[in-house]
Amino acid sequence: MSDKIVASIITGGGRGIGRAIALRLARDTAVLLVGRTESDLQSTCQEIRQHGGVAEACVADVTASAAAERAVEMARVAGWTIHNLICNAGIGKSGPTESFPKETWRQIMAVNIEGSFNFIQACLPSLLAAQQGTICLLSSISGLKGYAYTAAYTTSKHALVGLARALAQEYGKRGLVVVPVCPGFVAGEMTDRTIRGVMKRRGISAEEATQLVVRANPQRRIIPPEEVAEMVAFVCSGRVPSLSGNPLILSGGE
Ligand code: NAD
Repeated sequence: MSDKIVASIITGGGRGIGRAIALRLARDTAVLLVGRTESDLQSTCQEIRQHGGVAEACVADVTASAAAERAVEMARVAGWTIHNLICNAGIGKSGPTESFPKETWRQIMAVNIEGSFNFIQACLPSLLAAQQGTICLLSSISGLKGYAYTAAYTTSKHALVGLARALAQEYGKRGLVVVPVCPGFVAGEMTDRTIRGVMKRRGISAEEATQLVVRANPQRRIIPPEEVAEMVAFVCSGRVPSLSGNPLILSGGE
């Protein structure tokens, strides 16, 4: 029997959806959390260890390709075999396109698209050597539909769906499952920022803006991050490889 330790790399794993994914995957594998804020990463690692899991933190900016290589090297030195890569780190900013700062556009593309690409490229040799593995790309319902005032974010999330589809075609025969995960509004800081943006643009109260966001989901709820984490864990279980290349929509209905 192999004594290899199976591992998952989760970018942006210190808070929000990434944290929920880290906590959930740590029930099945060792986890390497990558992110910019060391305190968030360490507190998530600590919680995982308290529950008997194995976790390490790698402080890094996903836009630097050397960061991805460093994370893979950390896993190798720990004796871990990478089976799952979760490209979750992401940023968004809304605003009218005619005055949207070009630098913000570039940052969104750099983190959401290039950051994912950096980690995919760095992890591919390990995943291909194992002849099995899962890559989940945290896209969004904005990866499949257009929304006003979010041209940059929407573009980047569409790109992740395209990236997942291309990788599924390229690597399906070599045992990889690549899935773009597309949630609606999920509870956390990103959705809180969206609510503040809606308040400002429409001149409405926090409660009214929250209701608008809630009503985007036919179930009239903001999705808990643990639901996204549960779906990512299911994809990573490898039980349904034919999910590969297909957007997984978690929105309560479109
Ligand atoms: P969040 O802002 O709470 O967390 C994002 C994480 O990414 C943070 O840990 C942050 O430190 C990390 N990150 C950002 N830039 C980074 C960089 N350059 N290098 C390393 N780490 C970086 O957001 P969230 O709600 O947890 O969202 C996680 C992912 O899910 C994002 O890709 C987001 O676009 C996507 N998503 C979110 C929602 C939602 O409603 N919150 C819906 C659909 C998809």
